[in-house]
Amino acid sequence: MSITVVGSIAYDSVRTPFGERERMLGGTAVHFSLACSFFADVHVVGPVGDDFGADELAQLQRRGVDTADIERVADGKTFFWRGHYDYDLNTAHTDDTQLGVFADFEPKLSPASRACDVLFLANIQPELQLRVREQCDRARFVALDSMNLWIETARDALVRVIETVDCVLLNDAELKMLTGQPNLVRAAREVIGWGPRAVVAKQGEYGSALFTAERFFGLPSFPLETVLDPTGAGDTFAGGFIGTIAAELERSAGKLDDVPDPPGAALGDEILRNAMAHGTALASFNVEEFGTERVSRLEHTEIEARIHELHEITHFSGSPLPRRVSRTAS
Ligand code: AMP
Repeated sequence: MSITVVGSIAYDSVRTPFGERERMLGGTAVHFSLACSFFADVHVVGPVGDDFGADELAQLQRRGVDTADIERVADGKTFFWRGHYDYDLNTAHTDDTQLGVFADFEPKLSPASRACDVLFLANIQPELQLRVREQCDRARFVALDSMNLWIETARDALVRVIETVDCVLLNDAELKMLTGQPNLVRAAREVIGWGPRAVVAKQGEYGSALFTAERFFGLPSFPLETVLDPTGAGDTFAGGFIGTIAAELERSAGKLDDVPDPPGAALGDEILRNAMAHGTALASFNVEEFGTERVSRLEHTEIEARIHELHEITHFSGSPLPRRVSRTAS
C-alpha cells in the first residue's frame, strides 16, 4: 500500500527542561514518514530550501521513504520552527515560525504520489492541504491534522478540507476551538457531522480518544519514566495510526469497510483500535529523545514488544462482581 503525505519538512530548534537542540531535522511530514515507513511505502511531498542537508534527506531514504517529490527551491529557506516546553510537556510554546519555501509552494505531485491508496494531510496551511487532496482523488482513506494557528487564521479553508477527509486528528483543545464546543464529545460529534468517519483526539501524556458515529475508544499513553522532548509526538502517532490502516487495507485487499465490528459500522472498529495502539507505541518512542533521534534508529521488534506491553496494561476482565445484598436500617 502506498501513502502520500504533505506537511512541513523543517529545521526545529527546541528547548525543554531536559536539554536543547538547534536546527535538528523536524517537520510534520518528516515525523509522520519515519513512523509510517514501518508499515507502508511512503511518498513525501513538500519543498525545502538549498540549506537542506544531504544527511537529513538520507535519514528519510534510509527508512525507504520516497523523497522524489521533495522539491529543492534554489535560494529558498527550509521551513523553520523554534519552540520550547516548560515542565508541562503537553504545551508547546512557539517562539518563531518561518514558512520559508512554504510561503509560495505550489504542490506538483508525481504520478506515484498521486496514485496513493492512503493520503495524510499533515499540519500545514489548509489551502495547501486542499490542493494536494484534489490531486489524490483515488485515495481510499484520507486523514488530516492541523493546529491552532490555522484554526485562528484559515478556519474556512480548514473546514472545507475536513469535509473531504475520512479522519481528523487534532488535540483536545484544537477540537474545542475549531467547533466552539466546550465539551470534547460534542466537539467530536460536530466534526463527524461535517463528513469524516472518525475523529482522534490527541491528549498528550494522557493518551488519545477515538470517536466514530457508533463507538468510542480510549487509550492512555504508554507510561514512561524518561520523556525528553514531545516535539513530533502527534505526527509520529499519526504515522503509526495511518500506517496500520494502510497495512490492514493491504491485508484485506482494500476492503477496509468489509471487516466492520459491529456489523454495519463504517470503518472496522478493531482496525481502528489496533491503529490507535500502534500510534501510541510509536509516539512513546518519539518522546524518549529529541526530535527524530529515537525513531530513526527504531527496530520493528521494539514496536512489537511495546504493543504487547500496551495490551497487557490496558485490558481487564470486565467480569461482573457478586452483588451485595443491600442492608436497610431496621
Ligand atoms: P507535533 O507533532 O504537533 O509536535 O508537531 C511538531 C512539528 O510541527 C515540528 O517538527 C515543527 O516543525 C512542525 N510545525 C510547527 N509549527 C508548524 C506550522 N505552523 N505548520 C507546519 N508545521 C509546523
